[in-house]
Amino acid sequence: MAHAYRGAPHTLGPAGIRRLLMATYEYLCSHCGPFDVKLAIGTAPRTHGCPVCAAAARRVYSSPGLTLTPDGVAALHEREEQAREAPAVVSEVPAGKRVPRRPHPALSQLPRP
Ligand SMILES: [Zn+2]
Repeated sequence: MAHAYRGAPHTLGPAGIRRLLMATYEYLCSHCGPFDVKLAIGTAPRTHGCPVCAAAARRVYSSPGLTLTPDGVAALHEREEQAREAPAVVSEVPAGKRVPRRPHPALSQLPRP
């Protein structure tokens, strides 16, 4: 996860909101190939230093990769949506420590035949 979600956006200052509104920008180094950089929306420069060779790499334009939902929450949403269509079905009780069932204490107070 890129960052920890610390509260609702209205409780964050401008810097916190900017941190939440991150986008993934693609750059192409002519020596090393493509790489991604996560930056606040609207702050991507036309060129960015390549993380491998430090040469100026030009920005590549593609569909925006917005990161508004924290990664953990997005994974939970994905799993919940998948469970609607194709729920994971178990064929047996999961293995685990079985706790023996004790009779209710009040049963010992009942009259015996
Ligand atoms: Zn490079």
